[in-house]
Amino acid sequence: MNKFDLNKLIRSNIKALEPYSSARDEYSGLTNSGILLDANENPFNNGINRYPDPLQLNLKKRLADLRGVPVNQILLGNGSDEVLDLVFRAFCEPGVDNVCTLPPTYGMYQVLAGINNIENRTVTLTSDFQPDVENILRVTDEHSKILFLCSPNNPTGNVFNSDIVRTLLESYSGLVVIDEAYIDFAEDPGWLGKLNNYPNLIVTQTLSKAFGMASVRLGICFASKEIIAVLNTIKPPYNVNGLSQEVALKELGNIEDTKDKIQLINDEKKKLTKLLEEVSFVREVFSSEANFLLVKVDDAKKRYHQLLEAGIIVRNRSNQPLCDNCLRISIGTRHENNRLTDQIKKMDL
Ligand SMILES: *Cc1c(COP(=O)(O)O)cnc(C)c1O
Repeated sequence: MNKFDLNKLIRSNIKALEPYSSARDEYSGLTNSGILLDANENPFNNGINRYPDPLQLNLKKRLADLRGVPVNQILLGNGSDEVLDLVFRAFCEPGVDNVCTLPPTYGMYQVLAGINNIENRTVTLTSDFQPDVENILRVTDEHSKILFLCSPNNPTGNVFNSDIVRTLLESYSGLVVIDEAYIDFAEDPGWLGKLNNYPNLIVTQTLSKAFGMASVRLGICFASKEIIAVLNTIKPPYNVNGLSQEVALKELGNIEDTKDKIQLINDEKKKLTKLLEEVSFVREVFSSEANFLLVKVDDAKKRYHQLLEAGIIVRNRSNQPLCDNCLRISIGTRHENNRLTDQIKKMDL
């Protein structure tokens, strides 16, 4: 790889930025005897009258332990959506720069590119749902800032081949974001262990899926401490609210329970795969390392509506490339999956 220079990727207005300094940034050490008259808070204690820790240190320490990444290489956001938006805003000059995404994939990259007025150069995955290295490098130029790799990919469910990802990390000139929202359902260890080998690597994860906290809105960004420092200067000071920090920390105390549930979901996925493969209108069940299945059927629109009439809502992904007549089905509880399979058997008569 050419020598990586982060400074060349940062937008010039962001480099020049003097970040907002909040009262809690300037003084965060609350002692028993001290009184806080610095932030215009309401002094009457109801448990939520103080601003939360802007850097979420307690929660980050827990995640640092869990993932084996130091606190200064972690940034938290109000869901992955905020984390990804911060990456756009730090590195992509509106109307000038471009990013690359690989459909069929997560729809938010395209939406965020649109919001930030950044050209999105799409390169469809190969027929086995892997990144098309040659074409990715072909559409890359000096204004290419971010390549988004979603692995395991939504909606296809597969993990990207590690040799292909390595090639891209070594040859793409901008930042490579690997979205690992579903990594805890996969056998694959993911890319966190390689963070220090690649200064251009950003790994994003979330508490929304395997950790069962979609409502809490907590997205996690892992990267070099230099990249994290840039993102910290532009994030809204209190972007993760105090209640979310508290609930997440408490829930993360029970990792064994989380692991049990991941195992249950993966077992159910295996069972559902077998069953679906026996159904006459099912053409293919794609192998999945996430908590959903992509299923090719005879007529996705018809099957979608039949399920809907039975009160079962799945996602029709047919409008995405390579996903003709494909439904994406999340793995539910055993009871929910049984209801789904009963209904599918009825439809198969
Ligand atoms: C669900 C999902 C996320 C999670 O987004 P949050 O904003 O953290 O809830 C991120 N990336 C992908 C690919 C997803 O499918």
